[in-house]
Amino acid sequence: MKETIALSVNHLQKYFYVPNKFQVLKDLSFEVKKGEFLSLIGKSGSGKSTLLYILSTMDTDYQGELFINNVLLTGKKQNELAAFRNSNIGFVFQFHYLLPEFSVIDNVMLPALKLKTKSYDEIRAKAMENLNLLGLKEQAEKQANKLSGGQQQRVAIARALINDPAIIMGDEPTGNLDSKNTQIVFEIFKELAKERGQTIIAVTHDDDFAANCDRIIELQDGVLLK
Ligand code: ADP
Ligand code: MG
Repeated sequence: MKETIALSVNHLQKYFYVPNKFQVLKDLSFEVKKGEFLSLIGKSGSGKSTLLYILSTMDTDYQGELFINNVLLTGKKQNELAAFRNSNIGFVFQFHYLLPEFSVIDNVMLPALKLKTKSYDEIRAKAMENLNLLGLKEQAEKQANKLSGGQQQRVAIARALINDPAIIMGDEPTGNLDSKNTQIVFEIFKELAKERGQTIIAVTHDDDFAANCDRIIELQDGVLLK
Protein backbone atom coordinates (compact mmCIF):
# COMPACT_ATOMS: atom_id res chain seq x y z
CA MET A 1 0.00 0.00 0.00
CA LYS A 2 1.25 3.46 -0.86
CA GLU A 3 2.48 5.91 1.75
CA THR A 4 -0.28 8.37 0.85
CA ILE A 5 -3.10 5.99 1.75
CA ALA A 6 -4.62 6.43 5.22
CA LEU A 7 -7.20 3.67 5.08
CA SER A 8 -8.20 0.92 2.75
CA VAL A 9 -10.71 -1.91 2.72
CA ASN A 10 -10.62 -4.93 0.45
CA HIS A 11 -13.72 -6.97 -0.34
CA LEU A 12 -15.47 -6.00 2.86
CA GLN A 13 -18.67 -7.88 3.58
CA LYS A 14 -20.91 -7.89 6.60
CA TYR A 15 -23.98 -9.90 7.52
CA PHE A 16 -26.52 -9.55 10.28
CA TYR A 17 -28.14 -12.82 11.35
CA VAL A 18 -30.93 -11.51 13.57
CA PRO A 19 -33.86 -11.53 12.92
CA ASN A 20 -32.93 -13.04 9.51
CA LYS A 21 -29.67 -13.50 7.61
CA PHE A 22 -29.14 -10.27 5.74
CA GLN A 23 -26.08 -8.91 3.92
CA VAL A 24 -25.67 -5.30 4.96
CA LEU A 25 -22.30 -4.57 3.25
CA LYS A 26 -21.59 -6.11 -0.13
CA ASP A 27 -18.01 -6.50 -1.30
CA LEU A 28 -16.77 -2.97 -0.62
CA SER A 29 -13.26 -2.01 -1.75
CA PHE A 30 -11.98 1.55 -1.52
CA GLU A 31 -9.08 3.72 -0.34
CA VAL A 32 -8.96 7.02 1.49
CA LYS A 33 -5.90 9.21 1.09
CA LYS A 34 -4.01 10.90 3.92
CA GLY A 35 -5.37 14.39 4.49
CA GLU A 36 -8.52 13.66 2.50
CA PHE A 37 -11.88 14.95 3.76
CA LEU A 38 -14.41 12.36 2.67
CA SER A 39 -18.20 12.35 2.98
CA LEU A 40 -20.08 9.08 3.24
CA ILE A 41 -23.66 9.51 2.08
CA GLY A 42 -26.62 7.24 1.40
CA LYS A 43 -30.23 6.74 2.41
CA SER A 44 -31.17 5.72 5.92
CA GLY A 45 -30.56 1.98 6.28
CA SER A 46 -27.97 1.80 3.48
CA GLY A 47 -25.23 0.67 5.88
CA LYS A 48 -23.29 3.87 6.66
CA SER A 49 -23.11 3.44 10.43
CA THR A 50 -22.33 -0.25 10.08
CA LEU A 51 -19.43 0.60 7.76
CA LEU A 52 -18.11 3.32 10.06
CA TYR A 53 -18.10 0.97 13.05
CA ILE A 54 -15.98 -1.47 11.04
CA LEU A 55 -13.62 1.26 9.78
CA SER A 56 -13.14 2.49 13.34
CA THR A 57 -12.26 -1.10 14.48
CA MET A 58 -15.17 -1.16 16.94
CA ASP A 59 -16.93 -3.92 14.99
CA THR A 60 -14.70 -6.87 14.07
CA ASP A 61 -17.41 -9.22 12.84
CA TYR A 62 -16.94 -8.92 9.05
CA GLN A 63 -15.23 -10.56 6.07
CA GLY A 64 -12.51 -8.84 4.05
CA GLU A 65 -9.57 -6.71 5.11
CA LEU A 66 -9.14 -3.36 6.80
CA PHE A 67 -5.84 -1.46 6.71
CA ILE A 68 -5.16 1.82 8.49
CA ASN A 69 -1.74 3.48 8.11
CA ASN A 70 -0.42 0.33 6.44
CA VAL A 71 -1.41 -1.83 9.40
CA LEU A 72 -3.67 -4.80 8.74
CA LEU A 73 -6.23 -4.61 11.54
CA THR A 74 -8.39 -7.54 10.52
CA GLY A 75 -7.91 -10.46 12.88
CA LYS A 76 -6.13 -8.49 15.62
CA LYS A 77 -7.05 -9.07 19.25
CA GLN A 78 -9.53 -6.73 20.95
CA ASN A 79 -6.93 -5.27 23.32
CA GLU A 80 -4.57 -4.54 20.42
CA LEU A 81 -7.43 -2.89 18.53
CA ALA A 82 -8.37 -0.78 21.53
CA ALA A 83 -4.77 0.45 21.84
CA PHE A 84 -4.59 1.16 18.11
CA ARG A 85 -7.93 2.98 18.16
CA ASN A 86 -7.06 5.15 21.15
CA SER A 87 -3.94 6.51 19.51
CA ASN A 88 -4.98 6.60 15.84
CA ILE A 89 -8.71 7.23 15.54
CA GLY A 90 -10.91 10.03 16.83
CA PHE A 91 -14.65 9.43 16.74
CA VAL A 92 -17.45 12.00 16.81
CA PHE A 93 -21.06 10.88 17.13
CA GLN A 94 -24.29 12.70 16.36
CA PHE A 95 -24.86 12.98 20.09
CA HIS A 96 -21.80 14.22 21.87
CA TYR A 97 -21.79 11.83 24.87
CA LEU A 98 -19.96 14.30 27.09
CA LEU A 99 -19.91 13.69 30.82
CA PRO A 100 -22.42 16.41 31.71
CA GLU A 101 -21.25 17.09 35.26
CA PHE A 102 -17.57 17.28 34.36
CA SER A 103 -15.85 20.44 33.20
CA VAL A 104 -15.30 21.01 29.49
CA ILE A 105 -11.53 20.60 29.80
CA ASP A 106 -11.83 17.41 31.86
CA ASN A 107 -14.04 15.93 29.14
CA VAL A 108 -11.45 16.80 26.50
CA MET A 109 -8.54 15.41 28.55
CA LEU A 110 -10.14 12.10 29.43
CA PRO A 111 -9.10 9.96 26.39
CA ALA A 112 -5.49 11.11 26.80
CA LEU A 113 -5.44 10.44 30.55
CA LYS A 114 -6.63 6.90 29.78
CA LEU A 115 -3.81 6.43 27.26
CA LYS A 116 -1.19 7.34 29.91
CA THR A 117 1.54 8.26 27.42
CA LYS A 118 1.81 11.95 28.36
CA SER A 119 2.01 13.89 31.60
CA TYR A 120 -1.06 15.58 33.06
CA ASP A 121 0.36 19.04 32.24
CA GLU A 122 1.11 18.11 28.63
CA ILE A 123 -2.39 16.74 28.21
CA ARG A 124 -3.93 19.84 29.75
CA ALA A 125 -1.91 22.09 27.42
CA LYS A 126 -3.01 20.03 24.41
CA ALA A 127 -6.64 20.19 25.56
CA MET A 128 -6.43 24.00 25.84
CA GLU A 129 -4.87 24.19 22.38
CA ASN A 130 -7.76 22.14 20.95
CA LEU A 131 -10.38 24.19 22.79
CA ASN A 132 -8.75 27.33 21.42
CA LEU A 133 -8.86 25.91 17.90
CA LEU A 134 -12.57 25.24 18.34
CA GLY A 135 -13.29 28.70 19.76
CA LEU A 136 -13.99 27.37 23.25
CA LYS A 137 -11.05 28.64 25.31
CA GLU A 138 -13.33 30.75 27.50
CA GLN A 139 -15.55 27.74 28.25
CA ALA A 140 -12.78 25.42 29.49
CA GLU A 141 -13.66 25.46 33.18
CA LYS A 142 -17.43 25.44 32.75
CA GLN A 143 -19.52 22.39 33.42
CA ALA A 144 -20.17 20.67 30.07
CA ASN A 145 -23.97 20.74 30.38
CA LYS A 146 -23.92 24.54 30.76
CA LEU A 147 -22.89 24.96 27.10
CA SER A 148 -25.16 25.23 24.08
CA GLY A 149 -25.71 22.20 21.84
CA GLY A 150 -23.36 23.54 19.17
CA GLN A 151 -20.66 24.26 21.74
CA GLN A 152 -21.01 20.78 23.27
CA GLN A 153 -20.56 19.21 19.85
CA ARG A 154 -17.39 21.25 19.39
CA VAL A 155 -16.18 20.01 22.79
CA ALA A 156 -16.75 16.47 21.50
CA ILE A 157 -14.54 17.29 18.51
CA ALA A 158 -11.84 18.76 20.77
CA ARG A 159 -11.99 15.50 22.73
CA ALA A 160 -11.75 13.40 19.54
CA LEU A 161 -8.56 15.33 18.65
CA ILE A 162 -6.80 14.99 21.99
CA ASN A 163 -4.50 12.13 20.94
CA ASP A 164 -3.76 13.66 17.51
CA PRO A 165 -5.51 10.86 15.62
CA ALA A 166 -4.46 10.25 12.03
CA ILE A 167 -8.11 9.67 11.17
CA ILE A 168 -11.22 11.37 12.46
CA MET A 169 -14.50 9.57 11.85
CA GLY A 170 -17.89 11.13 12.39
CA ASP A 171 -21.31 9.50 12.27
CA GLU A 172 -23.52 12.45 11.36
CA PRO A 173 -21.33 14.77 13.44
CA THR A 174 -23.44 17.77 12.43
CA GLY A 175 -26.76 15.89 12.42
CA ASN A 176 -27.94 17.69 15.52
CA LEU A 177 -26.65 21.16 14.70
CA ASP A 178 -28.16 24.24 13.12
CA SER A 179 -26.67 25.55 9.86
CA LYS A 180 -24.35 28.03 11.60
CA ASN A 181 -22.78 25.38 13.84
CA THR A 182 -22.68 22.92 10.94
CA GLN A 183 -20.65 25.47 9.00
CA ILE A 184 -18.26 25.96 11.95
CA VAL A 185 -17.70 22.20 12.32
CA PHE A 186 -17.24 21.84 8.55
CA GLU A 187 -14.57 24.56 8.50
CA ILE A 188 -12.75 22.93 11.41
CA PHE A 189 -12.66 19.56 9.62
CA LYS A 190 -11.47 21.28 6.46
CA GLU A 191 -8.66 23.00 8.37
CA LEU A 192 -7.61 19.79 10.16
CA ALA A 193 -7.34 18.00 6.82
CA LYS A 194 -5.51 20.83 5.08
CA GLU A 195 -3.25 22.15 7.84
CA ARG A 196 -2.57 19.02 9.88
CA GLY A 197 -2.97 16.36 7.20
CA GLN A 198 -5.58 14.54 9.25
CA THR A 199 -7.98 12.29 7.34
CA ILE A 200 -11.68 12.89 7.88
CA ILE A 201 -14.47 10.42 7.12
CA ALA A 202 -17.88 11.89 7.89
CA VAL A 203 -21.31 10.38 7.41
CA THR A 204 -23.67 13.19 6.48
CA HIS A 205 -27.19 13.87 5.23
CA ASP A 206 -26.31 17.49 4.54
CA ASP A 207 -25.94 18.08 0.79
CA ASP A 208 -23.91 21.28 1.17
CA PHE A 209 -21.56 19.64 3.65
CA ALA A 210 -20.98 16.70 1.29
CA ALA A 211 -20.62 18.85 -1.81
CA ASN A 212 -17.84 20.94 -0.23
CA CYS A 213 -15.75 17.95 0.90
CA ASP A 214 -12.83 16.62 -1.14
CA ARG A 215 -14.79 13.53 -2.20
CA ILE A 216 -18.12 11.79 -1.71
CA ILE A 217 -18.73 8.06 -1.54
CA GLU A 218 -22.28 6.77 -1.58
CA LEU A 219 -23.76 3.56 -0.23
CA GLN A 220 -26.93 2.14 -1.72
CA ASP A 221 -28.28 -1.01 -0.06
CA GLY A 222 -24.78 -1.96 1.05
CA VAL A 223 -23.17 -1.39 -2.35
CA LEU A 224 -20.71 1.40 -3.03
CA LEU A 225 -21.79 3.55 -5.97
CA LYS A 226 -18.84 4.61 -8.12
P1 ADP B 1 -27.43 3.80 8.06
O1 ADP B 1 -26.44 4.25 9.07
O2 ADP B 1 -27.00 4.01 6.65
O3 ADP B 1 -28.79 4.40 8.29
P2 ADP B 1 -27.13 1.21 9.33
O4 ADP B 1 -25.72 0.84 9.09
O5 ADP B 1 -27.48 1.71 10.68
O6 ADP B 1 -27.63 2.21 8.20
O7 ADP B 1 -28.05 -0.04 9.05
C1 ADP B 1 -28.00 -0.75 7.81
C2 ADP B 1 -29.01 -1.88 7.85
O8 ADP B 1 -28.63 -2.84 8.81
C3 ADP B 1 -30.43 -1.46 8.22
O9 ADP B 1 -31.32 -2.24 7.48
C4 ADP B 1 -30.51 -1.79 9.69
O10 ADP B 1 -31.84 -2.04 10.06
C5 ADP B 1 -29.65 -3.03 9.79
N1 ADP B 1 -29.00 -3.16 11.11
C6 ADP B 1 -28.21 -2.25 11.73
N2 ADP B 1 -27.75 -2.71 12.89
C7 ADP B 1 -28.24 -3.97 13.03
C8 ADP B 1 -28.11 -5.02 14.02
N3 ADP B 1 -27.36 -4.84 15.12
N4 ADP B 1 -28.77 -6.17 13.81
C9 ADP B 1 -29.52 -6.38 12.69
N5 ADP B 1 -29.68 -5.45 11.72
C10 ADP B 1 -29.05 -4.27 11.88
MG1 MG C 1 -26.56 5.62 10.63
